[in-house]
Amino acid sequence: MIQLYVPLNFLGVIYREIKQSIADMDRLFGLLEQHREVADRPGAQTLAIRSRAPEVRFEQVDFGYDKTADGAHKRQILFGVGFTIAPGAKLAVVGHSGSGKSTLARLLFRFYDVDGGRITIDGQDIRDVTQQSLRAAIGIVPQDTVLFNDSIEYNIAYGRPGASHDEIVAAARAAHIHDFIAGLPDGYATVVGERGLKLSGGEKQRVAIARTILKNPAILVFDEATSALDTRSEQAIQRELKAIASDRTTLVIAHRLSTVVDADEILVLDKGRVVERGGHAALLALGGLYAQMWALQGAERAVAA
Ligand code: ADP
Ligand code: MG
Repeated sequence: MIQLYVPLNFLGVIYREIKQSIADMDRLFGLLEQHREVADRPGAQTLAIRSRAPEVRFEQVDFGYDKTADGAHKRQILFGVGFTIAPGAKLAVVGHSGSGKSTLARLLFRFYDVDGGRITIDGQDIRDVTQQSLRAAIGIVPQDTVLFNDSIEYNIAYGRPGASHDEIVAAARAAHIHDFIAGLPDGYATVVGERGLKLSGGEKQRVAIARTILKNPAILVFDEATSALDTRSEQAIQRELKAIASDRTTLVIAHRLSTVVDADEILVLDKGRVVERGGHAALLALGGLYAQMWALQGAERAVAA
């Protein structure tokens, strides 16, 4: 009996974790009301990751959200988008609002299947692996974080159910939210969310970062919020994110160009097409859309200062 109990309990934890992470991500992306777009293929394999940081590849990806009955799309969103993020490298995607940046993150997490091309992780088409193993490998810090009506401890532990209190506190410290939590009358037991304490956009984002630090995934995706964090806390958090991302494969969807300067490659997306790509200096020298965006943000920085 005792011998049986341990593995069953272990499986129970894993099962709960999977159910929760899927529900979490569905909610984060506001998809609960929509019908599920993807399903595991019969005999889908577990995603096999060769090292701590896998290679992520988009090959000629076409995509549109709304399809007509014959599968054609009413409005195509991505057109032949291709890139490779080498193991442990950082790719940044910039572009105006609506250009399709967040869609890339949703496709990588396989909320939808691509219409053309493919997405691979360490050479495996993500349509051939279980959604559970795919989603376990990816940590997303989304633009808008959804908190559950539960304790702040639960909300952080969500990244890895079963984590100890000390691990939760360590993640909160790394995300620069520990002091704030410790200062609340009920501390980590404080109920947050719609019916609890309302957190600011920046505080919610830090909870999401703590969750992701706790989850410690092989692939990190940051979908930066425009103005959730003030400049000083942003810089402090950027340092932490840099530390956790240093040996991870990272996709950063950037609004603040200051966070892309050190990326291995920067993609400039315009209306669903990659119009420029390269390093920061090369893109500035090109004098195109990236250089325009950089100049504009420089002016904003000067005004804000
Ligand atoms: P970005 O992150 O660059 O601002 P998104 O990837 O969120 O852009 O969106 C790209 C385009 O896809 C936008 O025109 C947006 O309106 C559209 N879009 C986003 N999500 C959906 C959806 N669930 N259904 C239909 N269209 C969508
Ligand atoms: Mg977006």
